[in-house]
Order: sequence, then C-alpha cells, then structure tokens
Amino acid sequence: MEIRQVGVVGAGQMGNGIAHVFALAGYDVLLTDISQTSLDKALSTIDRNLERQVQRGKIGAEVKAAALARIRTTLKLADLGPSDLIIEAATERETVKQAIFEDLLPHLKPTTILTSNTSSISITRLASRTDRPEKFMGFHFMNPVPVMQLVELIRGIATDRETYQTLLGVVNTLGKTAASAEDFPAFIVNRILMPMINEAVYTLYEGVGSVKSIDESLKLGANHPMGPLELADFIGLDTCLAIMNVLHEGLADTKYRPCPLLVKYVEAGWLGRKTQRGFYDYRGETPVPTR
Ligand code: NAD
Repeated sequence: MEIRQVGVVGAGQMGNGIAHVFALAGYDVLLTDISQTSLDKALSTIDRNLERQVQRGKIGAEVKAAALARIRTTLKLADLGPSDLIIEAATERETVKQAIFEDLLPHLKPTTILTSNTSSISITRLASRTDRPEKFMGFHFMNPVPVMQLVELIRGIATDRETYQTLLGVVNTLGKTAASAEDFPAFIVNRILMPMINEAVYTLYEGVGSVKSIDESLKLGANHPMGPLELADFIGLDTCLAIMNVLHEGLADTKYRPCPLLVKYVEAGWLGRKTQRGFYDYRGETPVPTR
C-alpha cells in the first residue's frame, strides 16, 4: 500500500522528531496535539533541528525549507481523516491512547494503517479496541528520532502481512533500520534498558553511589555514551515509570518493581529535561545533580 500522507498524534519530544524525519523523507505530515503550545514548540524544535543538519552539511537549505513546508499542524483530531498512516505518539497512558483511536476511527478511510509509538503498552490490546486490528502495529521510534537509527516494528496477534511489509518499506524510505519484536511488555529495547535505569535509581536510593558517580561509572566503566540517570532525564522520568509499571504488571515479576525514588521524582513533577529538573537540574548553564 502506498503511504503519502501521515498523521502524527502528540507533538511532544517524540512527535516532533517523527514529523521531522517523515517530512524530510518526502511525506506530507499533519501533526496534532491537545495543546497549541506543544504544537508551536514542536515546529520551532523541528526548525532548529533541521537547521543543525544544514549547518553540519547533511542537508541543503532548500531541503530544509521543503521539509518544513510539508508539515502542517492542527488542534482537531478529525483533520487527520485523509491520512494513509497514523502514528500515535501521545502521553504513555493506555486510556489516553485508547481515547485517541476511538475518536479518530470514524474519520478515517478503511485502508488507513494505525500505529502507536508506545514504549511498552500491549499492541494487541490497543488494536483490539479498533475496527482494524489487522492494520494496527507498534511503530517504536527511538529518542532523538532524527539521530537514532533503529525503529522497532511490533506485530500484534492480528497484524496482517501487508501492514507489516508496508511499514518495513516506510522504515527503509526513512533511511532507518527496522528490528522486529514480538508483542510482549516493553518489546526489546526497553525490556532491557528500563530495568537497567531502574537499577541505577535503586543504586542512588540505597546510597551506593551519587548521581555523578553512578553516571560516571557506566560511562567510563561500561563505555555507555550517557549515564543511566542522565539517560532517564532525557527519556522523561514519567515515561520511565510508566514503562516499569507495564513490565511489573505485564510480567508479574517483582524484579521489575519501580524504585520508590523514581516514583517520588515523578510525584514532584521533576520529570527530567522536559521540566528542567530530574536527576539533574538543567536551569543553569551546566546540569547540576539534584542528589
Ligand atoms: P511528551 O510528554 O514529550 O509528549 C506527549 C504529547 O502528547 C504532549 O505534547 C501532550 O500534549 C500530547 N497529548 C496528550 N494527550 C493527547 C491527546 N489526547 N491527543 C493529542 N495529544 C495528546 O512524551 P514523549 O516522550 O514524546 O512520548 C510520547 C510517546 O512516545 C509515549 O508513548 C512514549 O512511551 C513513546 N516513546 C518515548 C520515548 C522517549 O524517549 N521519550 C522513546 C520512544 C517512545
């Protein structure tokens, strides 16, 4: 099936990155959010990130201008009706995602493929609440989308071959690499990554190390490009907690219990970079550890 018009729901850090890479690959993108501020912020972030690519000589100024011209925004979900492909990238909460698909369905063509960028929620369950579980897939981009090479493709139990092949073709047009994952909690990347981040928070909680010593240990001792707490702030602590909860509930194993300190940061609204404070305070020139 040919995909030309893409509807992206949620204009947060993932939604803006997804809109960016699709527009650059020549797709027409319509980006929606419940917040006009998020939409405005997304457009300026995309502009800034494209400009960085221009400065680095990766794309020409005219390519940037053409990509920006392919992105439109709207506050009305119904405007996404003519899309060939929907990529839902709203807040990591199942009720939010379900409501989005429910509201969207009456406006869509029968052929429209539905996808979710969820980091952890069951694709089969999200699909089962739509009128087209065979045309529903997990389409999991990594953060930051313009930089990261991998896209996880997650088939629900009912996903048909054509839908999978279509999305595989789309990933190729984006110049990215697909990895197929079965539909079990948190798929591949986060099944492995999040317990490591959660363990780093436990290490902090138990006083084994400070924010600085934990991050330095993994960077210099395990050759990780970012420390786990720095990475958690980058991903968003609310997203990290949501994924741990899905692993804990979905796999019914206490080894996935979220660290109480992670819960406390989220309760404080210290969600990482997006709120300027998490394991580090980003309000000054350089990030300062908060513990
Ligand atoms: P975010 O908090 O930056 O953005 C979420 C956006 O969704 C916000 O702009 C919010 O206004 C919007 N939103 C909430 N309810 C909505 C609704 N009903 N309709 C339209 N928009 C709505 O979150 P994010 O980090 O961009 O994460 C989005 C999704 O991507 C989540 O499912 C998350 O698990 C997944 N994801 C995140 C990462 C990451 O590193 N942050 C990586 C891969 C996947």
